[in-house]
Amino acid sequence: MVRLKKQSLVTVGANNHANDKNPDMNNPINWALIGASNVAREWIIDAIRAQPASYIRTVLSSDAGRGAAYARENDISAATTSLDEILHDDGIHAVYVSTGNELHKAQVIAAARAGKHVLCEKPLALDLVDAAEMVATCRQAGVILATNHHLRCSALHIAAHEKLQDGTIGAVNAVRVFHANFLSDALARWRLNDAGGGVLLDSTIHDIDILRFLLDGTPTHVFAMTQSGRRSRPPVDDGVMAVLRFPGDVLVQIHGSYTVPNAPGGIEIYGDKGALIGRDCMSQRPAGTLHRRDADGDHDITLQHHNLYHYALGRFSEAVRGRGTPAATGDDGVASLAVALALRESALSGRQIEVQRP
Ligand code: NDP
Repeated sequence: MVRLKKQSLVTVGANNHANDKNPDMNNPINWALIGASNVAREWIIDAIRAQPASYIRTVLSSDAGRGAAYARENDISAATTSLDEILHDDGIHAVYVSTGNELHKAQVIAAARAGKHVLCEKPLALDLVDAAEMVATCRQAGVILATNHHLRCSALHIAAHEKLQDGTIGAVNAVRVFHANFLSDALARWRLNDAGGGVLLDSTIHDIDILRFLLDGTPTHVFAMTQSGRRSRPPVDDGVMAVLRFPGDVLVQIHGSYTVPNAPGGIEIYGDKGALIGRDCMSQRPAGTLHRRDADGDHDITLQHHNLYHYALGRFSEAVRGRGTPAATGDDGVASLAVALALRESALSGRQIEVQRP
């Protein structure tokens, strides 16, 4: 099979009229999963299969036995321990990278050089220079790179963004984000024990991304204090309180944690004409309520919830087929990482940190 890059995918669809009603059926996207991960099992396998003409061909694991069991359990026809096997397979068009965070860089760069489109998990890398190199390599190779920041795919946050853009609450003054929870033991392994884990790079980075999406900008300065050792192995962070200054002198407060059971998640956006209040919306699930509060009282905003990962994979697949951009691009992944790393530097140094421009 001919490898379908962005250009050839469009051409094949335009020239083949065998299935005019759904031209995507002529432009299959064959996937390889790089990483036999929990997030793929819980969310992404289903989201890929929910897209038209999208198929998962194989899964890469570092452990042959675990990979084979994973393939069997998830109805994937093959498993491999060889990244090269995937890269040399012209029938694979896209890869989903959800290995440990320290592996993302090498795998994304190798995939891009082999002409595969890439959906990569956050954080793109552990270092800003590495993340920028990943974006540059994908750009050079002419492949799509997306970062899997799911929150901006939520119907609630999309509606909040629209309300902010149409000026419903006036000029934004400040935002508060509550995203504290109690990490289950099943997910604790590397998140609480490894240098690549910690609440900042694992969870707060999603808050940063959604704030960048809602406020259409990236903070310039940040300050943070972190906690460690309640559930994590020090110095890995398991709690954070942060303050960020966005363009336009908008101040933002974030509370993130892996040690707080039963805390309600939410976001409150304060403007000079009113406030937007989202509840139970810092989540992977299609859930939450949004209302506007102004001088006349509270007004519910009606939402049509949808699966966040279906939306993300829909946008990615469209981009691969030459239509639009992914929900969160590689550049978004780099910018959100820059802020998360600045928060970590602030917590370690006790100083306010200027966010590096990648
Ligand atoms: P997992 O721990 O499930 O998987 C990560 C890697 O760990 C896998 O590639 C696998 O290696 C290895 N692994 C899995 N199970 C075992 C095991 N029992 N023993 C030894 N090794 C194992 O991680 P997550 O799925 O939680 O996270 C993966 C990536 O996805 C991370 O980058 C994370 O930040 C991101 N993520 C993103 C989410 C989002 O909503 N955007 C949500 C959750 C995670 P191998 O492939 O070699 O088998």
